[in-house]
Amino acid sequence: MPVKHRIRNSSAPAERQSGIIQGKAPHRLDNAHKVTRKWPYYRGALIWVSAMFLLFLALSTFIFGALEKDKNIIFLGITIFFVWIFMKLMFFFASKATTCPLCRANHYANSRSSKHKKAFKFFPFSYASTAVITAVFIRCVRCMHCGVTFDLTKKYR
Ligand SMILES: [Zn+2]
Repeated sequence: MPVKHRIRNSSAPAERQSGIIQGKAPHRLDNAHKVTRKWPYYRGALIWVSAMFLLFLALSTFIFGALEKDKNIIFLGITIFFVWIFMKLMFFFASKATTCPLCRANHYANSRSSKHKKAFKFFPFSYASTAVITAVFIRCVRCMHCGVTFDLTKKYR
């Protein structure tokens, strides 16, 4: 029986722009949809921001302890680091609730799937982290998979 070979897509894959900013920033006037539930987005953002704060605190405590050669401060830094891992785990579960109403993927979770042409990302952050940052600062999230903007402030009519 002949083996059916996988048909390769002849068209070139979407060219990734190189640079600090990739994609297009979400904007609420850009035909924005509303999300089914807003609270999971704010809860996820809150956990993400506190996790960032804990990581910063853990690193600075650790470095301070290393400079002072104080074992207790170094252990405190390591303890805060484990709390950070716990918060990242909490964020992982919280991100499960931020489901895209259109494509059923998570807005706050990274996956290995190919991203939409307009998926927004800026340099030190991943697609999911950028979504959290835009949710905090402009209350808009662009779905990294379907490229649709979601407005967290949009009211039900
Ligand atoms: Zn989507």
